[in-house]
Amino acid sequence: MKETSLEACRVAVLSGPSGSGKTTIVGRILSDLQLPIEMAVSATTRPPRDDEIHGKHYYFMSSDEFEESRQAGEFVECAEVHRSGYWYGTLKREVDRIQGAGSWVLLEIDVEGALNLMHIYPEAISLFLKTPSVDEYESRLRGRGTESEEVIQRRLRTAEEELKSADKYRYQIINDDLDRAVREICTILEAREGEFHAR
Ligand code: 5GP
Repeated sequence: MKETSLEACRVAVLSGPSGSGKTTIVGRILSDLQLPIEMAVSATTRPPRDDEIHGKHYYFMSSDEFEESRQAGEFVECAEVHRSGYWYGTLKREVDRIQGAGSWVLLEIDVEGALNLMHIYPEAISLFLKTPSVDEYESRLRGRGTESEEVIQRRLRTAEEELKSADKYRYQIINDDLDRAVREICTILEAREGEFHAR
């Protein structure tokens, strides 16, 4: 079997339908994990929201720029997400930079992208985040108040589809209680790091 460097193994990929609480969980993993970890900033063709900063939340690209990068093989994975017409992708240089610093790479990407990523990084820790019930997706999505009805309906349809892929992830995490879910994820990553050192 191909020898995989330790750095290449430190990849955690998190997916879950809109409303599953991904953004909050990600923030807490970054602050609570007892290991160096950094979020890979994705590229997207979606226009920035009011509070979003280029290079921090996303690398905002025009469709032409994105396509050029795609053709140049600069993405580890990319996908048109939620049938929105917008493309999102994980830049290889972003993953390399974080791994090169000896940190875990945290990716928060859609199911299609995550399944592709699992082929490229078979050792990745894949985590699928769920709410305790399907009804909760809808109420959390509406509670955010950031999306139009059309977008909400589209995201709910995507959520139904994405849930069907949950069992392709190594871990399914129920976000019933924020602290508990964060602790569960941190324990998984810390145990994995322990395994690396025991090798
Ligand atoms: P938003 O537009 O709300 O920031 O993100 C929409 C969706 O894009 C989220 O579900 C997120 O998981 C997904 N996403 C963000 N970055 C990437 C990426 O680099 N690759 C893929 N495949 N999906 C992404």
